[in-house]
Amino acid sequence: MSKDIRTILERYRSDRARLMDILWDVQHLYGHIPDEVLPQLAAELNLSPLDIRETASFYHLFHDKPSGKHRIYLCNSVIAKMNGYQAVHDALERETGVRFGETDPNGMFGLFETPCIGLSDQEPAMLIDKVVFTRLRPGKIADIIAQLKQGRSPAEIANPAGLPSDDIAYVDALVESNVRTKGPVFFRGRTDFKAVLDHCLTLRPEQVIDEIIESKLRGRGGAGFTTGLKWQLCRRALSDTKYVICNADEGEPGTFKDRALLTRSPKEVFIGMAIAAHAIGCRHGIVYLRAEYFYLKDYLERQLQQLRDDGLLGRAIGVRRDFDFDIRIQMGAGAYICGDESALIESCEGKRGTPRVKPPFPVQQGYLGKPTCVNNVETFAAVSRIMEEGADWFSAMGTPDSAGTRLLSVAGDCSKPGIYEVEWGVTLNEVLAMVGAKEARAVQISGPSGECVSVEKDGERRLAYEDLSCNGAFTIFNRNRDLLDIVKDYMQFFVDESCGICVPCRAGNVDLHRKVEWVIAGKACQKDLDDMVSWGALVRKTSRCGLGATSPKPILTTLEKFPEIYQDKLVRHEGPLLPSFDLDTALGGHEKALKELEEAKK
Ligand code: SF4
Repeated sequence: MSKDIRTILERYRSDRARLMDILWDVQHLYGHIPDEVLPQLAAELNLSPLDIRETASFYHLFHDKPSGKHRIYLCNSVIAKMNGYQAVHDALERETGVRFGETDPNGMFGLFETPCIGLSDQEPAMLIDKVVFTRLRPGKIADIIAQLKQGRSPAEIANPAGLPSDDIAYVDALVESNVRTKGPVFFRGRTDFKAVLDHCLTLRPEQVIDEIIESKLRGRGGAGFTTGLKWQLCRRALSDTKYVICNADEGEPGTFKDRALLTRSPKEVFIGMAIAAHAIGCRHGIVYLRAEYFYLKDYLERQLQQLRDDGLLGRAIGVRRDFDFDIRIQMGAGAYICGDESALIESCEGKRGTPRVKPPFPVQQGYLGKPTCVNNVETFAAVSRIMEEGADWFSAMGTPDSAGTRLLSVAGDCSKPGIYEVEWGVTLNEVLAMVGAKEARAVQISGPSGECVSVEKDGERRLAYEDLSCNGAFTIFNRNRDLLDIVKDYMQFFVDESCGICVPCRAGNVDLHRKVEWVIAGKACQKDLDDMVSWGALVRKTSRCGLGATSPKPILTTLEKFPEIYQDKLVRHEGPLLPSFDLDTALGGHEKALKELEEAKK
């Protein structure tokens, strides 16, 4: 076995569950995951080489062949396309001499497209290896590529001052936090973490859970399940080993609020996890951090170390000499579906991020088969504040079913994109006025998996679970945008991100995407629209996880709110054939074969 591979395996004690970390280290070493190392890894991990390749091939950011000394991933989200993506795309091809999807013969550059990288407020943006570059323009691309050719590293280019990567100044040099409004809950910056944690540790776990239930806090990841209830179920699950996991894999296009929380308030999140650990009775925490946020990892590790140094993580933490709790960071590798809690758990175990069949639920059987409580970044940050200020303080804000505040990631057609803290119950029009949106026609609430609403028809609706449920993404489109193009883009996203395990999602989204293309091409008739509605309902109903259950929504919600964008494109065909059926194309192969036959006869 090569010395390097042995070192990597020893780093993770040849633990099969740490396969994601092992694969990252191998890729950082070789630039890809070579076939030659698979037998060595497999032998030590008690897997087959095929098992390892099966896992690696699931993730967009793992490469099985040389992919360039510098791997460049340009975000191709809808927002990027609204902000100059194409010019940047062309500049990258021109300056590197490489086409997207390829690696140059000298092995210097690999160019790849990637979905949303959590920077919708500062697009176009790209990753070069682990480093982020934002607000790109062709001139900036020429400069960056020239410097790379001169031998400078991406980190040196993005951070000419040479700041250490675990310093907040380094993070700020790469990415603006863009927090526009601070409310009562988030980004307060003056929490006495020791006092909050000590207070919680003096309470019985059941008292902490009761406080969180009374606060009416609902999970901020999207589903909105009652946080305290989830903790209660996990506490009641019988096991001497349990886990708490922070889902920091915000991959919904248009969402970037967790990026800001992890930058400005990481300790609120970690202390929230420690409080959850006390409540459910566990000693081990994991932060599952999306690989697109690799640039935050060293900084977050330093924040964790500071908490350990302060006696708030590790052995015998806070006022309790008998309570151990520590957190490790698990990097993802580029897979939207890992935002699903059971897919995330699979990924944490070093497997493909395929959602599990439920039940059992993670609170019963989660990470390594043990009861596991998964909450997202915003939820844990809110927990810290609730335990600091009290359940009544929190539940007094918002609406009856939606207590407290929530963070919005605002992007698109507005003059002030960024992070806003709003009280639940705020209207669509109030948010639009706050963020400087003029001429807004549509708002995509909660990203592609949410609802596309009409400003004209829905302006007075409220962001709340009782009305417009919102997972944080608030993407604005004005009257100049082609909504059908946006729908097509979102459907392509779901086609690309489906894990493929169930047929309705794997095949249905492809068919739905094709139907949208027909509409755009002016080849669709009313029957195609009817099919989209019935197929969409079927995909939603029969898919295993939330991705399939929501993926047809870009079509279904725009059909409901903006039927004219479809109707205007329909052909009113009276003939016997469907308009989408192209006779010439269909007969093309037949005619070619006939010609070849004629030639052969001669
Ligand atoms: Fe995978 Fe889609 Fe099925 Fe979810 S619905 S499990 S993403 S194929």
